[in-house]
Amino acid sequence: MNILVTGSAGRVGRRLVGDLLAADHEVTSVDLKDPGVTHPHLTHHSGSIADPNFVERVVDNVDAVVHLSALMSWKDEDAERMFEANVNGTERLLESVSRRPVRRFVLASSGEVYPENNPVKLPIDEDHPTAPTSFYGFTKHLAEESVRFFIRRYQLKGVILRFSHTQDAPELFDPESWFSGPRFFLSRKLQTAQERGQHDVAEALTRYDDGEEKLVISRGRDGTPFRMHITETADIVQGVVRALDREEAVGETFNIGSDEPISFDEVVPRMSEYLGIPTADVRLPVDAPSYRTSNQKAKRLLGFQPQWDFERMMKEGAEFRHTTGR
Ligand code: NAD
Repeated sequence: MNILVTGSAGRVGRRLVGDLLAADHEVTSVDLKDPGVTHPHLTHHSGSIADPNFVERVVDNVDAVVHLSALMSWKDEDAERMFEANVNGTERLLESVSRRPVRRFVLASSGEVYPENNPVKLPIDEDHPTAPTSFYGFTKHLAEESVRFFIRRYQLKGVILRFSHTQDAPELFDPESWFSGPRFFLSRKLQTAQERGQHDVAEALTRYDDGEEKLVISRGRDGTPFRMHITETADIVQGVVRALDREEAVGETFNIGSDEPISFDEVVPRMSEYLGIPTADVRLPVDAPSYRTSNQKAKRLLGFQPQWDFERMMKEGAEFRHTTGR
């Protein structure tokens, strides 16, 4: 198959393109950035999927599409750019695809459509009501609705995948990582809170800032530890490949993520042992995200089986630091 992958220079895209090439597929890849990969069966196009002329050119002769490209941001000033990339871009791609004999369209959506941080029931399965509260989650919700419309109107063989938080194991211990920094490291968490104007959060964190780096055991205002799913990118890619392959996937929506959520009061002390830096146990003036998302539907219909738990991610993250010195 010739498979078009949008967002091919990103975390999930890079890994997916590698796996598809290894499985002898032709890959057409698209991203704003050049992923810097060459392969005889890979054709890369740098450009924006929000540009209709560009999209018309890149969808020619593709058999299937995995649509990963998106802008992820929680800054108000990015709302317009995010709408253009995530909503208008998706719609333009769907329009071009619907005029061609494309056999499968897989959309990367997110648990932020529920949203997972404010569940009305647990575990969160695919029937949980959607009511996004972030602009990012709203754009993913609209992208999902576009796919559903094209399934109804043009018999598109679409599949919607709601990914959990996703990281490469080597990102875990990297304070510069876009996810791990503000999630776990005091210095970056404080900086992010200041940048976002979350003055009360910044104040709570400042009390622990004595100049020495710490890993933060984040808790909500009532002491509940943060609890969420963090999934290794390779497991997310496994879900995507199964959604491309399996006939049972067509027309369906799936949660794709790890089996178990992690609780910060349990994993941050383990991370601290690996890194040899102390922890700070902090009550933040927020409601703690605390949820469990079910991946049972993906297991049942797609044979999805995550291979990484957080312990394995930490072990591989530590090995990466050891071998690279980073
Ligand atoms: P990423 O940010 O690493 O990669 C996204 C890629 O999309 C980037 O390389 C970017 O250059 C590209 N892109 C952005 N706008 C574009 C445009 N207009 N045209 C072409 N390319 C564009 O993200 P990721 O972690 O690989 O995530 C992949 C997908 O999964 C995204 O749709 C994201 O919203 C979704 N998702 C990610 C997570 C996560 O925790 N990483 C969780 C849930 C859902």
